[in-house]
Amino acid sequence: MDSTHAAELTLERSQAAFQNAQKLMPGGVNSPARAFGAVGGSPVFFQSGEGAYLYDLDGNRYTDYIGSWGPMILGHGHPAVVAALEQAISRGTSFGAPTEAESELAERIIEAVASVEKVRLVNSGTEATMSAIRLARGFTGRDTIIKFAGNYHGHVDSLLVAAGSSAATLGVPSSPGVTAGTAQDTLVLEYNDVASLEQTFAEQGDTIAGVIFEPIVGNMGVVRPSEEFCTALRSLTRRHGSLLICDEVMTGFRVAFGGAQQLLGLQPDLTTLGKIVGGGLPVGAYGGRADVMDQVLPAGKVFQAGTLSGNPLATAAGCATLEVLKSDPPYERLERLAARLESGLHKAAESAGVSHTLARVGSMMTLFFHAEPVTNWPLASQCDTKAFARYFWGLLHRGVYMPCSQYEALFVSAAHSEQDIDNTIAAAAEVLSEEGSSAG
Ligand SMILES: *Cc1c(COP(=O)(O)O)cnc(C)c1O
Repeated sequence: MDSTHAAELTLERSQAAFQNAQKLMPGGVNSPARAFGAVGGSPVFFQSGEGAYLYDLDGNRYTDYIGSWGPMILGHGHPAVVAALEQAISRGTSFGAPTEAESELAERIIEAVASVEKVRLVNSGTEATMSAIRLARGFTGRDTIIKFAGNYHGHVDSLLVAAGSSAATLGVPSSPGVTAGTAQDTLVLEYNDVASLEQTFAEQGDTIAGVIFEPIVGNMGVVRPSEEFCTALRSLTRRHGSLLICDEVMTGFRVAFGGAQQLLGLQPDLTTLGKIVGGGLPVGAYGGRADVMDQVLPAGKVFQAGTLSGNPLATAAGCATLEVLKSDPPYERLERLAARLESGLHKAAESAGVSHTLARVGSMMTLFFHAEPVTNWPLASQCDTKAFARYFWGLLHRGVYMPCSQYEALFVSAAHSEQDIDNTIAAAAEVLSEEGSSAG
């Protein structure tokens, strides 16, 4: 597929590194999205990042719109984060005992995220969501969790579940290794579908421990919730004594300092965080109502632990990142840059005659190869993923590193410049005009 492009980068070293990695690790990677499965071909191996740019093994430079899948809102190697890490590393990397930096990060999260009164630090977004649903079950004494198709909450067994054959029936495992028993405790509904949510609560509300959802979806591409959907989520869970779990692993500190819940005026019972809170190191967090959080061991009885949780390097990078976001908020600049990218991509796609729709909230964005707005997974799944793959490779060979799947959000960072954005638009215009002429 690469050979059809005017621009061509040499990727020989990346290809050799991938050959080698495949002998050592399943699929050659430590997380499947990195393997380029959705766009075909061989992934790029990187050696460094600086600001808005990544440098691969062959010495090619890319403008980075993945940002480590979300964390790098300040760009790569932000001086304040690097300095905080350097200071922390010389004092020791892990004690398995309390440090004040943990309280500092907790305090910063509590201050920023309105619904969070108490918080527990963990090592990944997956740990955060896994722990939050265990807590919801422990707190309510109920088993059932509701999730939505196309929302991703990490690789938690009971969330690796797909909808059964009819709406609001028992979930079925979406991965080998997830037992039918586990999947049966999860119901999968369509995002933005108020009627099915109401019906499910009417039928079995008193068995539902909690509802977990992405308040602005990034994991089927960017999809917004309708206002009615948000209202129904909050009122139904409240009325039935279920907990509302807002998964802000991606949106937290991304779409606003206070997360999506700030933008949407939502007051969840529990919130999960990750990505940006670790500033590029492995950190997750779950927090919320103090009466609920106080059920976590050792204050309460719901078990959850972690040898490296809140370790000094992770908390240093997290605190430094949140400090920059607080004292020098980039959100207006991100909005401006991302709006510029959105309108440039839209014009490029339109003048090439490429069927598309753009979805954006702040610095998260998706160009869907789909003519209609995407509001749920059935619509998202109709996208022309082959056209997306051609777009992805066309941009990659022009030095633009976009998410390697139609169903991932791109991220603009505070390190991007207007010039970076304009160069990306120009590259996209070339790629899309080839797409338009070949389709026409
Ligand atoms: C990335 C993500 C997760 C999982 O986080 P990991 O750190 O990859 O385990 C969970 N929920 C959402 C919304 C995410 O975007």
